[in-house]
Amino acid sequence: MEGEKTLKAIVTGGAGFIGSHLCDYLITQGYQVVALDDLSTGSEANLEQLNDNADFELIKGSVLDKRLVNDVVKDCDTVFHLAAAVGVHTIVEKPLQSLRTNLHGTENVVEAAAAHGARFLVASTSEVYGKNNTDGLTEDADRILGSPLKSRWSYAAAKGLDELVAYIYGEESGLPCVITRFFNIVGPRQTGRYGMVVPRFVTQALTDEPITVYGEGTQRRCFGSVFDVVPAMVELLDTPEAYNRAVNLGGREEVSIKGLADRVIELTGSRSGIRYVSYEEAYGDGYEDMERRMPDTTLAHELIGYAPGRRLDDIIASIIKHDTTGFIAPQAVVV
Ligand code: UDP
Repeated sequence: MEGEKTLKAIVTGGAGFIGSHLCDYLITQGYQVVALDDLSTGSEANLEQLNDNADFELIKGSVLDKRLVNDVVKDCDTVFHLAAAVGVHTIVEKPLQSLRTNLHGTENVVEAAAAHGARFLVASTSEVYGKNNTDGLTEDADRILGSPLKSRWSYAAAKGLDELVAYIYGEESGLPCVITRFFNIVGPRQTGRYGMVVPRFVTQALTDEPITVYGEGTQRRCFGSVFDVVPAMVELLDTPEAYNRAVNLGGREEVSIKGLADRVIELTGSRSGIRYVSYEEAYGDGYEDMERRMPDTTLAHELIGYAPGRRLDDIIASIIKHDTTGFIAPQAVVV
């Protein structure tokens, strides 16, 4: 933080899963925070702990509302742009609306940030790497995408353009800008309603429903904790060497989806069995999944010392318990 000046941040998508944790964290860091959210997939309940905080405000509105975006951003010096259509189910079911939000929404926000001289971070995704299943994807890895006419790839295409728009503003107008690429970030408050696998499995396990493993469950992912990535986002914006770069943020422990199901069953003590569901049944015709997606986070380590420490079992346990104290828990340990 610079001197005595209080920084004011806007978090678009602030009522969402990562956005609400970011609002919590920024408040602990002394920021004033405005969350802008249309509550399409986010929820006010994610922010109820901040209701009475004088440094926090929730504005219900869309990033597609250009005037509103401009009005809010003009009073802020820091912009975290997280508002997006997220979740594979959302993208497949509402392709046009998703595309609009992800393209025009980003354009509106980045334009306002540049016009008012605010620092800007845009949340991107490991989806941009597509089917590249290299062991440890670095930021300059090639993108291997299927047809843009398949909804899964339209999302990757839109996010790629979001990155490009931000990057060009950075190059041409000197916008201090960071692009973060999230790799399967999970934690409490994430909902399974839009497809995300960990909250779906946890809910299924806690209600003793069958765990729905898509395909054969051999596909692999590396889940990262929201409590590791949120502080990293703030630090990256404080690090000029990170400007105009894309930075991977994720976890370290790779697991197959069948392996994940087994761990969730064990950690919840559930009586659920596993039900294998074909991709066709899960997502409709022509869906392509990624066999593997594993981040290389060396760049984040070099820039800000990023070292995601949380183990998958602990991450799953915090989700089972809805434990949202992740930012403060380490200091609470008495030695
Ligand atoms: N998945 C699954 N069962 C579910 C939801 C998802 O087996 O109920 C699989 C999905 O097909 C993918 C992985 O879990 O292989 C991760 O899915 P998610 O949507 O969380 O993230 P993605 O990596 O696909 O963006």
